[in-house]
Formats: sequence, structure tokens, C-alpha cells
Amino acid sequence: MPHLSVVIPLYNEEAAIDELYRQLTEALEAYGASYEVIVADDGSTDGSFEKLKAIHARDSRWRIIRFRRNFGQTAGFAAGFDRARGDVIITIDADLQNDPADIPRLMAKLEEGYDIVSGWRVDRKDAFLTRKLPSMTANWLISRATHVHLHDYGCSLKAYRADVVNHIHLYGELHRFIPAVASGYGVRVAEIPVNHRPRAHGSSKYGITRTFRVLLDLITIYFLLGYSTRPIQIFGGVGLVSFGVGVLVGLYLTLVKFALGQDIGTRPLLLLAVLLILLGVQMIGMGLLGELIIRTYYESTGKPIFYVREELG
Ligand code: UDP
Ligand code: MG
Repeated sequence: MPHLSVVIPLYNEEAAIDELYRQLTEALEAYGASYEVIVADDGSTDGSFEKLKAIHARDSRWRIIRFRRNFGQTAGFAAGFDRARGDVIITIDADLQNDPADIPRLMAKLEEGYDIVSGWRVDRKDAFLTRKLPSMTANWLISRATHVHLHDYGCSLKAYRADVVNHIHLYGELHRFIPAVASGYGVRVAEIPVNHRPRAHGSSKYGITRTFRVLLDLITIYFLLGYSTRPIQIFGGVGLVSFGVGVLVGLYLTLVKFALGQDIGTRPLLLLAVLLILLGVQMIGMGLLGELIIRTYYESTGKPIFYVREELG
């Protein structure tokens, strides 16, 4: 079994592959541990797969997974994690914007006792307006929402202890949230500055729209991290407040009608009372449904509601 598994999602990076092979091999051989490289070819339509196939033929440490179509970078990571046999998993981009020479430093940090070490592209070589600014905003929001403070969630260059990623199921743009999700399990996360280079070959696969997908995923993560084992507490809370205020407004209107004898049929407050009471009932109902779903989920998947670091006796 190799000690390191390097996982690389790759989509139409034909021009970068030979250099990727050269730089990775140099860095990993210098580091000295046994390793494997798992490339997930995410439905490339250029000559990427032929190049990868040739590499696999001469270096069996390189394993290639070829997707039937383009499933996205997150799916590439997921496939790699699934196949990885190493004790430590390193993820890196195929376009060489990350520098394989940083791998030994990630490993050194991991060995200080961390479970995840994340790269921080201090001097990021991407466009400011469409990439760096949205990313800064997203990092700030994600850090606030998850209480895991990282400068650069979007950096692909990360090192994980293998048992950490085994618990995590990836969907959407979720790969960037692994440190946040994993911290919910109690893992220790560190961040170190890494080198970042301009894209030398090919073009970026993303634009500004990714920001919106990331924000939507953040809402999911925020909910899952905080309330996934007790949905009634978040929905029920909002529901109770809404219901309570609605009843109060309704009581006030009842007084106005019967004590003061005024007509309330045309008052906007009446609508508000009805709205709040209905909303409250709906919310509590949703919380209860959530509880049912959560029970089905945890019991059918055998997912524990706790995670053990070690056990004595
Ligand atoms: N990638 C992928 N599937 C996709 C899009 C991208 O596997 O659908 C890979 C891509 O080949 C690269 C990495 O994900 O190795 C990061 O993509 P890119 O460099 O385009 O993103 P950026 O660095 O501009 O954020
Ligand atoms: Mg890139």
C-alpha cells in the first residue's frame, strides 16, 4: 500500500499533462515516501485521456479513472477518495497552478498532529474582479458561518488523513467545504501558505457563476453542520415565534371587535395574523417532517451521530 495518494481531477488539460507528470514525479520522489497518483479524467474531449493512458503504461503508480461525461471537479475528488489506498490523501489541480513542490511542507504540517492541512494561495495569480474578490467574500462568509477560519477554502492543494474523508459524502461544489464539514466531526484543521502560479496551459473551467453555486452550498452546509440532527429546533423555533405573534395579533383584533365594537374585516393586521399563524403551523410541520427524514437517513445509512478519535479499553 502506498503511503500517499495524490488525487487530481482533470478536465481538458492536454497541454499541461506532461509537465504535471514531470513536476509531480520530481517532488514526490524527492519526498521519498511511497505514493500513487489517481487522476480522474472528468470526461475530457481533447487528447487528455490518451496522454494519461501513455503515462499509466510506463508508470503504474499513476492510476486513471475515466468518467463517461463531465461530472464536475467535486465528482473527480469523490472518485479519487473512493479509490485512494494511502494513509494520506493529497489533492491538487491538474493545471499546475498549484506547485507540487509544496507537498513536503503540507506533509510536515500534517505530521505535527493535524488531520487536514489546507493550502493558502497568499499571492493568488487569478483575475481580481471575477475570481479573487468573490473568493475573498466567500471565504469570509464560510469562515463566519462554519467557525472554521481559513483564508482560502477554494485552494485545491490540501492534505487529508485518509480516515477523515471516508466519512464525507460530496455533492455540488462541496469539496471546498470538507474542512468545515470535517471540523463538525472534530478533526484538527491547519492552513499554510502555498505557491500559486498563473495558468500556463489551457483555460479556466469556471467563471463568476461558481460564486452563486458556492453560496447556495454554504446554506446547506450551515444547516447540516448546526441542525442536521435536530431540525425541529430550527424550524420549530421559527414556527413557534411566528405562531405566537400571530395569535397575539389575533387576540388584539378580537378585543378591538368585541370590546370596542369596531369592524376589523378590512384591517391589514387581520391578514398578518392569519399569515403568521399559518406560517407557524407550516414551519412546525416542516420541523417534524425533518425529524422523520433525519431518522430514516441516520438509521438507513448506519451513520453515527458522533465520531470517536480514540478508545481505551
Ligand atoms: N476540473 C474538472 N472538472 C471540471 C472543471 C475543472 O476536473 O468540470 C479540474 C481542472 O482540470 C483543474 C481543476 O479542476 O485541474 C481546477 O479547475 P480550473 O483550473 O479551471 O479552476 P480555477 O483554478 O480557475 O479555479
Ligand atoms: Mg486552475
